[in-house]
Amino acid sequence: MIQSSFFAYHSFLHRSMMIIMMVLVVFGVSCNNQSGKIVGNQEELNQAISTAQPGETIILANGVWKDTEIVFKGFGNADKPITLTAEDPGKVLIEGQSYLELSGEYLVVSGLVFQNGYTPTSTVISFRTSSDELANNCRVTNCVIKDFSNPERFESDFWVLMYGKNNRFDHNSLIGKRNLGVTMAIRLNTEESRENNHIVEYNYFGPRQILGSNGGETFRIGTSHYSRTYSNTIVRGNYFDRTNGEHEIISNKSCGNEFRDNVFFECQGTLTMRHGHHTLVENNYFLGNRKPNTGGVRIINEYQTVRKNYLYGLTGYRFRGALVIMNGVPNSPINRYNQVVDSHMQNNLVINSDYIQLCAGSDEERSAVPVGSSFTNNLILGTTNPEPFTIYDDVSGIEFAGNVMSKGTKRPFEQGFSYTSTSLEENKNGLLVPSDDLLESIDFGEVALPVTKEEVGAAYFPKSDETISFGSSQTIEVPAGTNTLIEALEASQPGSILKLENGGEYLLTKYAIVKHPVSVITPEGDKATILSEKQTFFKIENGGALQFKNIRFDGAESPDYVGNNVISTSKYSMNTNYALVVEDCEVKDLDKNHSFDFLKAYKDTFADSIQILNTSISNITGHIISLDMETEDRGIYNVENLKIAGSAFTDVQGAIANIYRGGTDESTFGPIVEISEVEVTGSGLGSRNKLGSSFRFHGVQKLIVDNVKVIKSEKFDLFMTNGEPITQLSNITFINSKGLKTNGEPYLAENIINQ
Ligand code: CA
Repeated sequence: MIQSSFFAYHSFLHRSMMIIMMVLVVFGVSCNNQSGKIVGNQEELNQAISTAQPGETIILANGVWKDTEIVFKGFGNADKPITLTAEDPGKVLIEGQSYLELSGEYLVVSGLVFQNGYTPTSTVISFRTSSDELANNCRVTNCVIKDFSNPERFESDFWVLMYGKNNRFDHNSLIGKRNLGVTMAIRLNTEESRENNHIVEYNYFGPRQILGSNGGETFRIGTSHYSRTYSNTIVRGNYFDRTNGEHEIISNKSCGNEFRDNVFFECQGTLTMRHGHHTLVENNYFLGNRKPNTGGVRIINEYQTVRKNYLYGLTGYRFRGALVIMNGVPNSPINRYNQVVDSHMQNNLVINSDYIQLCAGSDEERSAVPVGSSFTNNLILGTTNPEPFTIYDDVSGIEFAGNVMSKGTKRPFEQGFSYTSTSLEENKNGLLVPSDDLLESIDFGEVALPVTKEEVGAAYFPKSDETISFGSSQTIEVPAGTNTLIEALEASQPGSILKLENGGEYLLTKYAIVKHPVSVITPEGDKATILSEKQTFFKIENGGALQFKNIRFDGAESPDYVGNNVISTSKYSMNTNYALVVEDCEVKDLDKNHSFDFLKAYKDTFADSIQILNTSISNITGHIISLDMETEDRGIYNVENLKIAGSAFTDVQGAIANIYRGGTDESTFGPIVEISEVEVTGSGLGSRNKLGSSFRFHGVQKLIVDNVKVIKSEKFDLFMTNGEPITQLSNITFINSKGLKTNGEPYLAENIINQ
């Protein structure tokens, strides 16, 4: 009796609910309160998970969930999944030491935001709860991981690892990973994770800063060890936005994967078919917009197809070209380079892109040239590089037919290449295209982005650019005096300009701590002078960056200690890259005791850019820029771009610039160094300068030195390592100096004079 009335009541309730829901649907009312169990803390969450039945929804209450370990195990079914979601998508903030693991069948996770913390495990979202409990037929959607980065730059973790089979990862935003480790990877380490048919679609892969090391890939499928097994993963409709971690944006390391309809916006790097066969790369849009190091697609291995991709404004060279086909290693070990066999580049539209490289990487080891392959019906248009093709070896195993190039460029062969005088015009979708006839001739279809930034990622989460540039915030007038500069610094906002008085004197009796980008300038005219009583004038902490303009630095008040400096990085790991600009400045008398450096950088720190421009520096007992802290020779280094121009250095006992990148890793673009219009006098000669050089460049990937005069100074020490570094030396005059010491022939050495 009781039971039947219970059921009657429930069926009444059910009918009422149905009617209410129908009313809501009819009147188009959206309902925020989802039906399900609301849980408010870890204990309630665990309890709800442990009893969840197919069709149930567990709802995390809005608010901050600190140090939350979500271990979501359950078995739903195709009609009735078990769902774990947010009360309101985007309002459940998972922070601190937190992570999510899921395993079982038919689970759905949505609406969660991971921020302000990092995982204590090796993965933020893992599609397994233990090595033998994997997720299958599960979905993670509408979630965000934003700068959930370990503060230790070289402590490795992943943001997303997919295991199991038939899982879907869609409409998520992964933004701003700052530490070592692939952003998202698909694992094939057990039989249960192979031939997985995962789908990865409509995700927003937001900006990833340059790591300065291998291990900064944004997306990877497989590892070399399992690369000859099939993954069968589909990656489509994703938007990669300036994912610049390293030169592999995507590292494909397994068989049977498809990359379709993705957009790569100003990404430094390439989609690399590093291992595995039978890959399809189709209708992807690579928009380099002429930004440095932007690349396209690189073929290695067998049965690869690259067709109907749009490649625009790509400047990357060598392995990072717009289209690259590599040489392989005969009978390659699994972790080296398989020969390219039966692989095809067809009907691609390449516009204003600089490099197409065939048989790339050809050397004694990589001697197996491509066979049974083709390069056909590609349009290679624009004249940004009049000779875009580089052919490193025998290309008789590549068929060339139907390719068209712009008049005025140099074709690699007459056979298979014709010329067009088509002009390039912006179409209604804002993309540069040739004439319709030409597009039709390769059956390209409409030139339009397959997906826009607005259509991808978690809809509720902004994709706004948070990079703060110098001078982007308010100006603070700083009166001359003791510690006034420190007070102004404390009151500053990211991007503030601290404006000093002409000819004013600014004494620091404490460290000036820099926690965000800030500019310190004197208006045109007499420079303000900054002095310090501490061992360091300015300390750049994590997140900090400094610009100086028209400033004088004077060591006169510095303490009588060994090892002072004007600017230092944090002593601890910095997971945010910094920048330093010194322009129109004067640096003098850093001579209290020995080893007084201008910039002191510590280990595990990385500068996107250091520039010394139009500056005079004299009487220094230490180094000016010494970046050699990464001594393990794993290809790690401390600066991406160094530029010294229009500057004079006199009586610097240490080195003007000392840049070290050891090892033979090939994953990075940098360091990139440019020295021009520079005069060096009486420098590098200090008895404590163990380098015995005025300049030392070890493992620099791109070095341009032009119009440099070195007078009565120590040698210029150049050590080129792997990666075919571009080293261009021109118009260097050594006067009564030890001259140039190199370990090989630079790419260019012109007008180098010893007097
Ligand atoms: Ca890599």
